[in-house]
Amino acid sequence: MKPIKFLQKNSIATQLIKIVFGFYCIVALTITIIQISIEYQHTRQSVENELAINQQIFEPVLSAGIWNLDDEQVMNTLNGMMAIPIIIGVKIEKKEQNYKAIGIVKTKSGQQKKYDAHGMGLFILENEYKDVFSYQFPIHYVFRGEPRKVGTATLYSNSSVIIDRVKIGIILLIINAVIKTIALWLLFFWVGKRILLTPLNKLVQAIENVNFDDLDELKIDLKNKRENELTIIENAFSDMLKNLADARIELIKSRLILEEKVKLRTHDLQRAKLEAERANEVKTEFMSQISHELNTPLNAILAGSQVLKTCIGPSQSQNLLLANQIYSAGVHLSMLVNDVIDVVNTSKDELEVVIDNCQLNDIIKSSIAMIKPITEERNITIDYEENNLVILADMGRVRQVLINLLTNAVKYNKDNGFIEISALKNSVGSVELSVKDSGVGISIEDDKCIFEPFVRLDYAKKNCITGMGIGLPLVKMLVEHMTASIHFESTVGFGSTFTITFKGASECKKHNK
Ligand code: ADP
Repeated sequence: MKPIKFLQKNSIATQLIKIVFGFYCIVALTITIIQISIEYQHTRQSVENELAINQQIFEPVLSAGIWNLDDEQVMNTLNGMMAIPIIIGVKIEKKEQNYKAIGIVKTKSGQQKKYDAHGMGLFILENEYKDVFSYQFPIHYVFRGEPRKVGTATLYSNSSVIIDRVKIGIILLIINAVIKTIALWLLFFWVGKRILLTPLNKLVQAIENVNFDDLDELKIDLKNKRENELTIIENAFSDMLKNLADARIELIKSRLILEEKVKLRTHDLQRAKLEAERANEVKTEFMSQISHELNTPLNAILAGSQVLKTCIGPSQSQNLLLANQIYSAGVHLSMLVNDVIDVVNTSKDELEVVIDNCQLNDIIKSSIAMIKPITEERNITIDYEENNLVILADMGRVRQVLINLLTNAVKYNKDNGFIEISALKNSVGSVELSVKDSGVGISIEDDKCIFEPFVRLDYAKKNCITGMGIGLPLVKMLVEHMTASIHFESTVGFGSTFTITFKGASECKKHNK
């Protein structure tokens, strides 16, 4: 907020005083100037009239002197005329020629010239006398009752004569204007300060002091005796302070309630979190236990069916078929149980990965062999071109990943469809292993969630395709544990391609977990 001093300088009251007073000064000055100039003009007019009166007084004496060629009488008369304060010079002309002159007169060329008391021309003046004006009259001598023009008289006067006359009047005018101005200024200052400046300052001070935490202490009293806009502001301000104080109390109450609620909610959440953690631990423990429990009879079934297959002779083809089915169902079940164990271990951060150089070709071929029975059931072809690529990875885990991808490529494929497996080195030396199928495909909306645990897309659910939704999340976890990455591309109705990128053998550090 701006300091109070700044506000006082720019306050409405100060501005009002400045504007009104400034305007008054301009008007007063203009009026005084007009008055002075009117006074000057008026005085000049009366001086000119007075010069005219001198014609009646001096014309007879001058005409007699000129007619009688009495130069002394003419000069005496001129000296007598110079005694009149408004006359600064007199010039007498005879037949257009300069005859006698005294004081300051103007020559024909318009220059000012000074003559002494004897009528001697002294020197030319450089227009030293300002605003010289004159009155001219013809001089007539009455001879035998008939007036005859004997010359012309010019009486000179100037502005200094007028100023001498109006001086006092002008001084009084100026004093009058100055006194009025000072009085008005004092009046304005006093009234403005009392009525506007002081109450406004109090109001501004009060607004400045508003502190939300200390509203009860703040009071405002402008001491205004009359009802006006300021009293309305004062009342509104006081009401606002009261409302603010009430609102503050409400706010404090709400805050306390809220804090209490947050405390309770936090407590509930902490309890719920502990319960959830406990439940998760119990679930993980249960899953781990049950998986291990399942593995024991499963291994027995696998071993038994393996033995059974070798015991059954070629004549008992029906029994051999059944034994094969038992065996492949056992393998499948065993893989599922192992997947569950891996998911459980991942959540406990106990997933084991052993990185080493592996022949990718061997892994792919053994995986194809494992998947063969289910592809044959649905007449799905597997296309694969052998290679010599070596990757740094955990052989068993890569097989687990590949079998998972191939199982999906079969499950979500069409009958008589195809699967293409390819492995190649890309431009940066990484090895890309792709599994392409001609299945139902995955829409863009689903592309983020398929790697989430227990997510199964509509197609899988509607068509009752067996699965638990842990295959792809496990694949992703295993791939990332081997510092590789996985992505897929898909077109709904045409199939999907899952690609795993293994870093080049030299880039990949060997590590055990
Ligand atoms: P599931 O046991 O259900 O197969 P996964 O984690 O392996 O679980 O896969 C998650 C879901 O992703 C599947 O339910 C399926 O809807 C979809 N899915 C996975 N692979 C494919 C694929 N090759 N083609 C189409 N959908 C697939």
